[in-house]
Amino acid sequence: MKKNFIKDLQTPVQFIKGIGPKRAEAFSKKSINTVYDLLYYFPFDYFDLTEVSKISDLKKISDLSKDVSIIGKVRSIDLTGRPPRRQCVIILGDDSGVIPLIFFQNINYFKTAYKVGDMLAVSGRLTYFMSKLQLVHPRIDRIDISEDVSEANLINTKGLIPKYSMCEEFRNARITDTALRKIMYNVVSEYVPIVEDFLPEYIIKENSLLPLQDALRKVHFPKTVVEKNSARLRLKFDEWFLFQLMLALRRRFMKVQLPGISFNIKSRLARQLVDSLPFKLTKAQIKVIKEIAEDMKSPKPMNRLLQGDVGSGKTIVALISMLIAVDNNYQVAFMAPTEILAEQHYRTIMQFLNGLNLNVRLLLGGQKKSLKENLLEEIKSGTANIVIGTHALIQEKIEFANLGLVIIDEQHRFGVEQRAELMKKAKESIKIQPDVLVMTATPIPRTLSLTVYGDLDVSVIDELPKDRKPVRTLLYSESESDKLYNFIREIIQKGQQVYIIYPLIEESEKMDLKAAVESYERFKKEIFPDLSIGLIHGRMPAEERDQVMKAFKENKINILVSTTVIEVGIDIPNATMMVIEHAERFGLSQLHQLRGRVGRGSEQSYCVLVAPNWLVSKVRRKNSRLDFAYARNFNNNNELEEQKATIRIQAMLSSNDGFKISEIDLKLRGPGDFFGTRQSGMPEFNIANVLEDGNLITLARKSAFKLVETDPQLRKDEHRLIRKIFLERMKDKFDLIQVG
Ligand code: ADP
Ligand code: MG
Repeated sequence: MKKNFIKDLQTPVQFIKGIGPKRAEAFSKKSINTVYDLLYYFPFDYFDLTEVSKISDLKKISDLSKDVSIIGKVRSIDLTGRPPRRQCVIILGDDSGVIPLIFFQNINYFKTAYKVGDMLAVSGRLTYFMSKLQLVHPRIDRIDISEDVSEANLINTKGLIPKYSMCEEFRNARITDTALRKIMYNVVSEYVPIVEDFLPEYIIKENSLLPLQDALRKVHFPKTVVEKNSARLRLKFDEWFLFQLMLALRRRFMKVQLPGISFNIKSRLARQLVDSLPFKLTKAQIKVIKEIAEDMKSPKPMNRLLQGDVGSGKTIVALISMLIAVDNNYQVAFMAPTEILAEQHYRTIMQFLNGLNLNVRLLLGGQKKSLKENLLEEIKSGTANIVIGTHALIQEKIEFANLGLVIIDEQHRFGVEQRAELMKKAKESIKIQPDVLVMTATPIPRTLSLTVYGDLDVSVIDELPKDRKPVRTLLYSESESDKLYNFIREIIQKGQQVYIIYPLIEESEKMDLKAAVESYERFKKEIFPDLSIGLIHGRMPAEERDQVMKAFKENKINILVSTTVIEVGIDIPNATMMVIEHAERFGLSQLHQLRGRVGRGSEQSYCVLVAPNWLVSKVRRKNSRLDFAYARNFNNNNELEEQKATIRIQAMLSSNDGFKISEIDLKLRGPGDFFGTRQSGMPEFNIANVLEDGNLITLARKSAFKLVETDPQLRKDEHRLIRKIFLERMKDKFDLIQVG
């Protein structure tokens, strides 16, 4: 007997018509457990049958770049040709004519997938073969004609047909495309009428959104492209809105509810530092220093992001803010993602502070016990003014005396939690909120920073120091090594120095290391026996590495062979050439970072990318447009990777601009990979897409921030449902704050 469940969105899917226990289990594999989950299982694409062509009309179509749709019956299915040219040919006919559908891949599947007499809806691009029209590997949907032509049946033959992502479990439980569409159709018609819209009328109006019921109906079964788009827009908006609401609340919590330090920004130390600099600060540096100083002066806690391309001079800006804090008798913690970077910051800062009587300490993971105990004591007693370190800074046993300023470098490599940990340490020591400055050398488009760093104020250094000549980037193939070696000699004859970088990819660390070491030996013995060659890699003891770096800095080494440990921080103006071996194996941001290691003095610098012959000839044939849609269409993974590598190299050759580079990198890798979704605190979105939704993000942000301003506790009656949904969906991401 069927249970009489209350019509509720929390109804388990098992009790839906057409779903039994077996199918319910398959659904649960996709985290679909309730009616609500099913309603929010949106199509990833649509099969466009808004305009169905008659087969006889196809030959009139002159624009072959557009997809066509036809509906017809299978007349015959045959295998023709001999391997490797074997193919499956399905002849499809309607009452006006016939057309062959051609399949080269999965021939055996297509041979049996359909039967003569099946009604198929087909879409794809027309091609000519021996002056006859055909469709090669079209998309196919079987149309169910076993039932009456009821309205439900039309979901397969009219308008836009939803395509849902499928999986093995679905197939095993006989949840086919057609079956799922039918289930969806039932669920949508039965349950959408009881969905309550959580957005108040005024937000819907302001943003010209569809009501939620409409949107849910039309996202699954749009009749037109316009309907589809406006439905998706509304549902994307919802996701952005809730996300921005979280950011707004978090920000309000930090800014308004917590008191912070009001620093006196007339700092003697900062003044002394600026006066002793061998260069003038750029306009952009001065601008961001002012922004930071204003924040520090204000009793509201600072939460600021400092963005700037490699070499734009962020370190000095951070240092000035540190000195302000120290002058106010507060400690500063400066956290960097790797030991090498922490060491580099330590060295740079010590140099800048030469002559100022400050106690700057370096805290790393594997330090000797006696040294560490000493350090911990100085941190606890407050005699350490500035502590630079890695994650080691957030270890439990570390206690600060009065940590007033927290600086985090390369923010995107840390999680929101780690930022919070360090802030907690500060709070424990000073009992109020510290000021926080996070820095990143990965500039990102504004709409993006509104999401990833949406709870922060943003400062941008958008200018490089004046005397810089842009680095010239060149591409050499692996077979052009003679040319490369001559070039290297030219540079060294001018008294300048060269880096040669080898990739170090975790899985093959040993092999990569071997490549670097072997090349080093070869350079030393065979190619440049008259020059001085150095080698550094991550497996070397820190002291040894330091010695080599020091020798390179003092120009006692002409060529430094290195694995990517050199990526960050290194700053040697006399090194004017960066050679990157196996450039195709590096990520784009990484390549840009490496390039940023040269071009730091006033001489012309070069970045030489060395890549395999196939890639070089592709680039030289101008065969690699930055066409992401095109790249995404490859079935073959290898081909896709090759295309992506080519695009990365092309991007390096065509731009020196960190913003452009990171935008391309983001597109290539997708936001999840780019930011490390879990790390950055970005949720996994269902329908929202950070790369596509630019303007919508801004709108949702405006509405969310305004809402928090007018009703910070979400207590008004018209916001009751927002509050409910927010707590349900965002609770786990919201442990840093409480909604009152
Ligand atoms: P990044 O933003 O990549 O961290 P750094 O802070 O390492 O850049 O600065 C890069 C180099 O430029 C350093 O050698 C630094 O001393 C120098 N520098 C910083 N500001 C200026 C400036 N205004 N004029 C000239 N050189 C500068
Ligand atoms: Mg830096």
